[in-house]
Amino acid sequence: MLYGLMQSVPLTLNMVRERVGELYPGKTVVTRFSSGFHSCTYGELLERAGRVANLLKDFGLRRGDRVATLAWNSHRHLEVYVAVPCMGAVLHTVNARLAARDVATLLDHAGDTVLFVDHSIWRTLGSDFQLPDCIRHVVVCEDEDPEGAVEAPRASNATLGRYEDLLAGYPSAFAWPSLDEKEAAGLCYTSGTTGDPKGVLYSHRSTTLHTLSCLFADGVSMRERDVCMPAVPMFHANAWGFPYAALMAGASLALPSRQTDPQSLVELIERAKVTIATAVPTVWTNFLEFIRSNQAATGKIQTLRRLPIGGAAVSRSLIDGFSEFGIEVMHCWGMTEISPLGLTNLDRSDVDAETLKATRTAQGLAVPGCSVRVVDGEGRRCPTDGRSSGELQISSPWAASAYFPGIAENVNRAQTSFVYSEGREWLRTGDVATIDSHGYVRIVDRTKDLIKSGGEWISSQELELQLMNHPAVREAAVVARADVKWQERPVACISLRSDNPEERQRFVSTMQTFLSRTFPKWQIPKEVKFWDELPKGKTGKIDKNALRDWVAGTEFDRAEI
Ligand code: AMP
Repeated sequence: MLYGLMQSVPLTLNMVRERVGELYPGKTVVTRFSSGFHSCTYGELLERAGRVANLLKDFGLRRGDRVATLAWNSHRHLEVYVAVPCMGAVLHTVNARLAARDVATLLDHAGDTVLFVDHSIWRTLGSDFQLPDCIRHVVVCEDEDPEGAVEAPRASNATLGRYEDLLAGYPSAFAWPSLDEKEAAGLCYTSGTTGDPKGVLYSHRSTTLHTLSCLFADGVSMRERDVCMPAVPMFHANAWGFPYAALMAGASLALPSRQTDPQSLVELIERAKVTIATAVPTVWTNFLEFIRSNQAATGKIQTLRRLPIGGAAVSRSLIDGFSEFGIEVMHCWGMTEISPLGLTNLDRSDVDAETLKATRTAQGLAVPGCSVRVVDGEGRRCPTDGRSSGELQISSPWAASAYFPGIAENVNRAQTSFVYSEGREWLRTGDVATIDSHGYVRIVDRTKDLIKSGGEWISSQELELQLMNHPAVREAAVVARADVKWQERPVACISLRSDNPEERQRFVSTMQTFLSRTFPKWQIPKEVKFWDELPKGKTGKIDKNALRDWVAGTEFDRAEI
């Protein structure tokens, strides 16, 4: 080992806490509850995070202990976001949309000892909810209904208290410990729409590096002058890292609690002067429709400049629609296993305008710090020709190298998601993709969403994106139906902008021609099913499993062709 190296400052979230405290104590966090707005400064938020840390210390919390949150996007949730990892414990953000039984399973699986839960969620968990024995303390956070009575946990010895009452009894000064960057900071379970949820354990190092990557100019490019509105829940891969990134950059935050309907978002954007916001495409599809039909709303969102959108494929119509309002959509791709940001779609300066236009709907280039490759069934790299597709694999300091240990048989199955080759670790994403000669990655489908018809593959995602470009379509998903002759056939599940029956007839009669401009005849769905609104999963994305079940349980309905 050579001497004379640089300082080995550990990459921990205490960097974020210290920087925002020193430089930006006056910046603000605005939370929009349905009962009204709440506003505080980062200075106040950090003081309260100190109180949370003292409370947890009093609870006997030790380094590495897990603390669960079951909460929407609010300043209180953010206080816990700061306190828990910075004191050396692990923040486990549980999906508040899960059924009571699944919440209990995850708390138990993670071995959480403390649960911070929003009052509104605590009440809706209902009588089915059985608090697991590992939880010793429940802290109910005031949210939509701060005055309502708080019911004690059923059949449990856990203590119960209200967040504000408890915090009032503790000082804000806390002796934050020096942490090792390899200690765990956070725990998220994958959304689990495909089976058993799997735990992803983020380290301080991975979260801090991911946070920094959000500030890269060739990343999400979060800046001090931004006001950031994460409308993706703080339990979905840590709101895609945006809360920590905003704190690190010194950007103010606007948190929508659970209200992500267009009207509520418009009000929050106006109030907090939001410049950058993020959520899954379905939220923005509704938002775009709303501002298009509501002149007054456009006047209220004048500060909004950029929408990094991911979680599902972004259609051209969404990108073009927002650009009419001077708002830039940045297509991003990620997954819980990679903290989650991996790809962002940026214009390369060495690529001509025509090509860039065509790649705008691609998921983008690897964020600095991420390497990507697409491999065939034998694990060989596919050519980077924009046509050859295979499984997307990713290698990065903020990508998982294993799942959080759990039930033995799941662990063995889950660990096949990781491979070691070319001298490094790779995460198998389960997404099918192409890479072009400039490095733009285009996700073609999920491995499990591809449709096999007559021995050939059909990309459900490409059909969906094209359907979304049809002017009458609001939402589109394509799933397979088992077919005796062809093995599988695609079924288009559609919700139209208008619920007029004549509009449905018109759509049915034009869909084939519309799709035949881009797809060969055998790939085009012959069956169309209309929904008022497509079903959504726990993270707000279209729930294809529900559609598949539904399609499997219905008769082929030729009247809809
Ligand atoms: P989750 O871990 O729940 O966020 O889900 C991650 C998965 O969402 C990825 O593996 C992709 O299948 C999908 N996904 C995320 N972003 C995109 C995107 N921009 N385009 C297409 N699929 C996406």
